[in-house]
Amino acid sequence: MGAVRNTRQKQMVYEALTRLDHPTATQVYECVHAEHPTVSRGTVFRVLGGFAEGGQVRRVTIFGSDTRYDHTLAPHAHGRCRVCGRVCDVFLPDFDAIAAGAESDGFCVESCEVEFGGICAACKREQMRENAKEE
Ligand SMILES: [Zn+2]
Ligand SMILES: [Zn+2]
Repeated sequence: MGAVRNTRQKQMVYEALTRLDHPTATQVYECVHAEHPTVSRGTVFRVLGGFAEGGQVRRVTIFGSDTRYDHTLAPHAHGRCRVCGRVCDVFLPDFDAIAAGAESDGFCVESCEVEFGGICAACKREQMRENAKEE
């Protein structure tokens, strides 16, 4: 019985994770809780922690934000919008080569965070619209 409930909770958390875009643990909780009000914050945080330890999801450190969770495991970098805070995936063609460069001195790479700061397409459009209005 307990095992079944655990599996179900894991599925709910994972589903929320894939539906959201690089959410924080709180955002995952809010998403799960909206549909399943009986699931507690503690449970969601515990399941997320388990996923991260088990390597099923990646913890991402983004400047100026709480830890976020990413279900995309292929090596990739992130772009962060300074206006709306949205985080998007950036796939670099030579990511392995970049990591290999870091290892040239005998350093063993275990994790890698590459973050580009900027402004997302939607916010850029919004800004251009605002500018057009002022003229
Ligand atoms: Zn934006
Ligand atoms: Zn990502």
